[in-house]
Amino acid sequence: MDKKEYYLNNRQKLLDYGKEYYLKNRRKYLEYKRDKYYNDDSFRQKQLNNRKQLFELIWKKTVNHYGGKCACCGFNDLKKKVRQCHFLQFDHINGQGNKHRKDEKYAHLFYWLYKNNFPGEFRLLCASCNVAMEPHEVICEYHKWEGRRKP
Ligand SMILES: [Zn+2]
Ligand SMILES: [Zn+2]
Repeated sequence: MDKKEYYLNNRQKLLDYGKEYYLKNRRKYLEYKRDKYYNDDSFRQKQLNNRKQLFELIWKKTVNHYGGKCACCGFNDLKKKVRQCHFLQFDHINGQGNKHRKDEKYAHLFYWLYKNNFPGEFRLLCASCNVAMEPHEVICEYHKWEGRRKP
């Protein structure tokens, strides 16, 4: 019997064996990784960094999708952080952002947006326009005031 014939005759057996082998080893691998995660500080740090990098990448992708700048003032420094939070933030146009977030299992709104193919009822605002923005408005209260102040 040549190799090919052997394979054809025992295909299902080989597949089952492969599956079993895979599952057994996957469990072992996951256990190994979990132990390493808890016991090895540098491994944990690396894992956490990878996760952070991935999140940062998804954040950037999502920000760019929503125009990459504050919808009110045009602030567009993606790197800027204040108190460890991005200065650019996502805002629900109807002011439903917080309610929305509580309904969903994702801790980060940007991640939820990414997973849901960037729904249209959100926009990007800088932190200062965000706190000064009334629902449904397009210019924040601060910039309205500043606009009035100028002749
Ligand atoms: Zn702004
Ligand atoms: Zn503004």
